[in-house]
Amino acid sequence: PDPTLRPEPMDGDSEDRALRPQMLEDFIGQAEARANLRVFIESARMRGKAMDHTLFHGPPGLGKTTLAQIMARELGVNFKMTSGPVLARAGDLAAILTNLEARDVLFIDEIHRMNPSVEEVLYPALEDFELDLVIGEGPAARTVRIELQPFTLVGATTRLGMLTTPLRDRFGIPTRLQFYTIPELDEIVRRGARLMGIPSEPAGTLEIARRARGTPRIAGRLLRRVIDFALVEGDGRLTREIADSALTRLGVDDLGLDAADRRYMALMAENYGGGPVGVETLSAAMSESRDAIEEVIEPYLMQQGLIARTPRGRMLAHKGWRHLGLDMPRSQQE
Ligand code: ADP
Repeated sequence: PDPTLRPEPMDGDSEDRALRPQMLEDFIGQAEARANLRVFIESARMRGKAMDHTLFHGPPGLGKTTLAQIMARELGVNFKMTSGPVLARAGDLAAILTNLEARDVLFIDEIHRMNPSVEEVLYPALEDFELDLVIGEGPAARTVRIELQPFTLVGATTRLGMLTTPLRDRFGIPTRLQFYTIPELDEIVRRGARLMGIPSEPAGTLEIARRARGTPRIAGRLLRRVIDFALVEGDGRLTREIADSALTRLGVDDLGLDAADRRYMALMAENYGGGPVGVETLSAAMSESRDAIEEVIEPYLMQQGLIARTPRGRMLAHKGWRHLGLDMPRSQQE
């Protein structure tokens, strides 16, 4: 098999595939994105044409891959999956593109990390369904044009700002995914518990939903761990007590923050007086990559109003100080 194609996303947990919604109808949340996609999918089907290229952007674990798979299933076409960093050479992408059948969905995860020389090949493919390949080297080199089947590219990125403008402009359907509300996550957790055959009380699933960081992937992971505790230390039912004690033991606090989130906030408070402090400084002090901080840690803390981004750097907000059990210093208050 082609190593640049991944058959299934690698989520770690094997039960994960069973929980993944299969059709748009089973997909919970993202109401606006879902309603729009329904129209675009239906229209493409009525016209018998490939759907427009679609870009999903937003933090990890919000359902970008899942929606891409659902699109292929709803369109009744094949789903091929790869990722930006895996496509090292233009030839890797060319091999995938020339193997697509009419109207197939090609999913490229982390599309902002694609090599520029690979990206060049993608432009004419997206625009005119054509590939210009250079064959041979030196004076003997020549370009051959290859016609492709019309296809739909679905790109996913956690960093919209890192996409080049020409690439971004080629997506007819850019879609931003949002953090999920607690009722939406609750529905996802209840569905998961039901699919795994675990009886649950409403306060139990709600406790997981409240502490899932707005993210279905985290909700699924926490649900599996809570079920472990319920089976081994409880009577097999997902209750609020079991959920609370399991999540606390896993280091997930009342707001759903994990150890890395708290370390980030504590560092700001204790070493930098609450900021402003630059992301590079925080990255060095935490020994975390800047990408992990900007893509994983900060979006949720910002959405929760725990930190703020200012032109001079990150600052701990009032709510952040309070969450750490500290008073905001006088100098920080307006
Ligand atoms: P991303 O590609 O944005 O990182 P994924 O599509 O891989 O996220 O989703 C992460 C996990 O969360 C998957 O296991 C998926 O089953 C689950 N998931 C995502 N969105 C939903 C949803 N709306 N309803 C139920 N489960 C979801």
